[in-house]
Amino acid sequence: MTRLLPTSTAGSLPKPVWLAEPEKLWSPWKLEGEALAESKRDALSLSLAEQQRAGIDIVSDGEQTRQHFVTTFIEHLSGVDFEQRETVTIRNRYEASVPSVVGPVARERPVFVEDALYLRSQTDRPIKWALPGPLTMVDTLYDAHYRSREKLAWEFAAILNEEAKALEAAGVDIIQFDEPAFNVFFDEVNDWGIAALERAIEGLKCETAVHICYGYGIKANTEWKSTLGSEWRQYEEIFPKLRTSGVDLVSLECHNSHVPMDLIELIRGKKVMVGAIDVTTNRIETAEEVAATLREALQFVDPDKLYPCTNCGMAPLPREVAQGKLKALADGAEIVRRDLTGSEPSPVQRKAEETVGAS
Ligand code: ZN
Repeated sequence: MTRLLPTSTAGSLPKPVWLAEPEKLWSPWKLEGEALAESKRDALSLSLAEQQRAGIDIVSDGEQTRQHFVTTFIEHLSGVDFEQRETVTIRNRYEASVPSVVGPVARERPVFVEDALYLRSQTDRPIKWALPGPLTMVDTLYDAHYRSREKLAWEFAAILNEEAKALEAAGVDIIQFDEPAFNVFFDEVNDWGIAALERAIEGLKCETAVHICYGYGIKANTEWKSTLGSEWRQYEEIFPKLRTSGVDLVSLECHNSHVPMDLIELIRGKKVMVGAIDVTTNRIETAEEVAATLREALQFVDPDKLYPCTNCGMAPLPREVAQGKLKALADGAEIVRRDLTGSEPSPVQRKAEETVGAS
């Protein structure tokens, strides 16, 4: 990737009203069978078109093919019983009804590979695909079989590695592992969480990312954030070890959060996906606000390692709000790109830039 400051989204984008109830997290599908499969592909095309229209450089499926970023992946594995649900406290802060691990877990068939091939066939831009990370998977289940979070994480890491290799073969450029649980369970992260993540990326030649955030804008998260004080220093606990890990990119929540930007020093050398869009408010950032966040990050990240991004997924936002935020992100990155290169693009260059990869 030669373009400076390539923009992307951390995760989900809103789904169309005919696929699932909008402005709601984890809303159930409105269709089933072949109609659902076809509708998910249509939603993916639409989401891709919206990303490209906004000027996003590294595009994704907008997570149109999954209901939940963890459980949709787990649904495809054997050893997990979705009927046998238990209420557990997840991320150490809210109760959720989750499926149970009842036997050895295994990936009987590819999970997202067909969807990734479909996305690949629709665009020439670099594509990023998100998978849940091993620690977060463990933290979203009740384990009645292994009875060890670490043991289960290693099993999931091996399964994720199989899926990641298949996604790489399908033409995915960046595979991202979502690990919101990294911000909560520091001891586990340092003891085996990062090691399990490295197992998940073993042998991959494509770029790999880990997304660590403070979660969607749901009530439980907002309340948790209000207890974290004026400086959120959670990243400080895990960055030193992450810096020495094999993962290429680290995706962080920055804009409107209380994360001190200088913590990025602790992952010096890594590429950093800087969250410059707040997903907990419907207010659309201005391009200048995005640019200000990126300029602040540039004090700690080299320009060729800075990837402007959203703080987290935008699934619960109204579609026009999400669209506006994507455009603000792309426009904000462009402002800083011009700072860096010191030149105004000519109208022809601008047009060429805008249409690159748009198919
Ligand atoms: Zn997130």
